[in-house]
Amino acid sequence: MAQLYIVPTPIGNLEDITLRALRVLREVDLILAEDTRKSGILLKHYEISQKMIPHHAFNEHKTLKSLIEKLKSGITIALISDAGTPCISDPGFLLVRECLNEHIPVECLPGPTAFVPALVNSGFSSDRFLFEGFLPHKKGRQTRLIELSKEKCTLIFYESPHRLVKTLEQFILYFGSERMASVSRELTKVYEENVKGTFGELIDLFKDKQVKGEIVIVVDGNRE
Ligand code: SAM
Repeated sequence: MAQLYIVPTPIGNLEDITLRALRVLREVDLILAEDTRKSGILLKHYEISQKMIPHHAFNEHKTLKSLIEKLKSGITIALISDAGTPCISDPGFLLVRECLNEHIPVECLPGPTAFVPALVNSGFSSDRFLFEGFLPHKKGRQTRLIELSKEKCTLIFYESPHRLVKTLEQFILYFGSERMASVSRELTKVYEENVKGTFGELIDLFKDKQVKGEIVIVVDGNRE
């Protein structure tokens, strides 16, 4: 019966995949993957040989109609991204929305996503938090930072390693130099690092290094 599964995959450590995710990936008729080469490594590791086709930010609009037709014909599809949960700073939302519009059942399996371990490791309040993902690079960035500076809840950002120090410097301007933050790098991987301090302390730690790997920045809420 037609069904779309959203299947989270590991953010580094290949062991972080659920038994149900593996079963669904083995049982579906088709797997949509952001990067078939990258996902091929995961599927090979778990000896999954289901048919896989690319589904990424550059073709998700174009392929929407044909995917809906495929689903309506009664097949089951699993959507995976390079890492973590599809739709979280990754493609997927368009397909989910269209499936729901067309009354095609969608099920998202629970599983890995980078911001949850980063938030929990930070030790900042996790009762209420705002997941910002990637800030806009240019247009709208300043306006968004002004809005965020007033937020009382914990803030979570995805950032690339080469922009980390620049972003922390910008955070001083908008959030103030006393605000505490935490940087999680390479979560679940061999060189995982979680460091906490003021923006200035974090800048000192990273400014003379060539920062590598994947980064989540967690910022304490506005306490004024
Ligand atoms: N869908 C993913 C999720 O559920 O977290 C996010 C995909 S987004 C394109 C990639 C960003 O997620 C990276 O730039 C980084 O900010 C964050 N990320 C992914 N894996 C990570 C890891 N192992 N450690 C730290 N951050 C990670």
